[in-house]
Amino acid sequence: MGFNRVLIANRGEIALRILRTLRDMEIEAAIIHGREDRLSLPVRLADVAYPIMRSNPLDSYLDIEAVVKAAKELECDAVHPGYGFLAENANFARRLEEEGITFIGPSSDVITLLGDKIEARAAMEAAGLPTAKGSSEPISSAKVATVIAEEIGYPVIIKAAAGGGGIGMQIVYEDHEFQGALKLCQGRAKSAFGDDRVFVEKYIEGAQHVEFQVLADGDKAIHFGERFCSIQRRHQKLIEEGPWLTDEKRAEVGALVCAGAESVGYKGLATFEFLRDKNGEFYFLEVNPRVQVEHTVTELITGYNLVELGIRVAQGESLPLRQDQVKIRGHAIQCRLNAEDTTNFAPSPGRLWECHFPSGFGIRCDTHAHPGYEMPGCFDSLLAKLLAWGPNRESAIKRMRTALDETIITGVDHLIPLHRRIMDESDFLRGDITIAYIDEHQELLG
Ligand code: ADP
Repeated sequence: MGFNRVLIANRGEIALRILRTLRDMEIEAAIIHGREDRLSLPVRLADVAYPIMRSNPLDSYLDIEAVVKAAKELECDAVHPGYGFLAENANFARRLEEEGITFIGPSSDVITLLGDKIEARAAMEAAGLPTAKGSSEPISSAKVATVIAEEIGYPVIIKAAAGGGGIGMQIVYEDHEFQGALKLCQGRAKSAFGDDRVFVEKYIEGAQHVEFQVLADGDKAIHFGERFCSIQRRHQKLIEEGPWLTDEKRAEVGALVCAGAESVGYKGLATFEFLRDKNGEFYFLEVNPRVQVEHTVTELITGYNLVELGIRVAQGESLPLRQDQVKIRGHAIQCRLNAEDTTNFAPSPGRLWECHFPSGFGIRCDTHAHPGYEMPGCFDSLLAKLLAWGPNRESAIKRMRTALDETIITGVDHLIPLHRRIMDESDFLRGDITIAYIDEHQELLG
C-alpha cells in the first residue's frame, strides 16, 4: 500500500531533495526541525512542520523518542531519515518498527549488522566480496596488533568498528607506533560513537575510492554502477564522478555487490564502498545503508530517481526494474560546495548576502541555500551540490568550469575556488587520482 504521509527526519539539501520526490509521488511531506531551521526552505515548503526545539541544535534531529512522537502525532506512515543524524541508527529503526511506522531503509537487524565494520566485513567476505586482510575481531592490545600487522605487512590502518566519517583512523608504519595510535583511535571512537572497539586492516597505498550504488527489495538486488570518490579531505569526499570502470569490471563487481545485498536480505538504497589498488584489485570497505550525498551523480548518468525507488521498495513494492534496464549514459561530476575556508577546511558559518546558483543544459544544483539564509555553524558545512553532466568526462569538466564561474555566494567562505583550480589541474584531467590527491596537491589550497 502506498504511503499517505511521510516524515522527513532531516534538514538542509537532503530534506529538500526528499520533499520534492514526495511531492512527485503525491505523498504528503511532514518535517521535524530545530530552532535554527524554522525558516529554512524544506520547512517552509513542507505540508506540515513539527518543531523540536533543543538547546543543543543537534539534539533536535537526534532525539529518537521526540521523532517517533512526531511521526505518531502527525499520523505519518513512514519516516525518511536521509543521511547522517538517525539514518544509520538501529535503535531508531527498531522503535519505528515497534510503532508500526515504516523506516525508509533496511531493517534494524541489517543496520546493526552493517553498522559494525568487523561484522560487515565477515558477512561480505562470506558472500564472496574481496576484503583487505585484517583482524576478524576487535583489538585492544598493541601486542596482538603487532602480531597481526607482521602477518599482513605494514602499513596498517586502525579503524573504529562503529566508525563513520573517517573519525579516529590511524595509519601505522612501525610497531612502536601501535601503543599511541590504538589509544587515540579508541578514544575518538568512544567519544564519537560510544563504542571503543577498533580493528586493524591492511593499509592500501595509492588507493582509489570506488563505490557501487545498489537498490534491493529484501529479496533481490540490482546495481546502478559505480562512483569514483577519491578526492577527499580528512577521509571525506569533496568531488564525486562516474562512471569510472570498464563495462566488464562494472558487471563483475556489480554482480558481487548484488550478491552481498541479497545475502543479508537488504531492503532499500545502499552503497558498497571499495578501495581499488594500483593493480586494479578491489577491497570491500563498508556498506552505507542509506541514501548518500553523491547519489545524484548516479541519477544523472542512469536517469533514475533513486530517492523515489527507495521509497517505492519501502512501500512494499518489489524491484520495479531489471538489471538490464539500467544503462549508463555520459559522465557526471559533482562538486560539494561546502561553506568552508579553502586553506584549512574550517567551517565558515554566516549569512548569505547574495547567492546565485547556475542552471542550464546538463547542470543540476541541489541546495537549500538562498539569499538571506543563515548558514549555521553547528551542522554539516554542505551548502550546495553542484553537478555537471556531459557526453564524456572532458565535456562534463568543461561544463563544470562554466557552472563554477557562474556561481555567486557572498557572506561565507566556500570551496568554489578550490574546485575551480582542481578542474584545471593536470593529474585530475588525466584521471591520475588517488585518495591522497588533496594531500599531494597542497598548492591548490589557499
Ligand atoms: P568511514 O566509515 O569512517 O567513512 P571507511 O571505511 O568508509 O570509513 O573509509 C573512509 C576512507 O578512509 C576511505 O575512502 C579511505 O580514504 C580511507 N581508508 C579506509 N580504510 C583504508 C585502508 N584499508 N587503506 C587505505 N585507506 C583506507
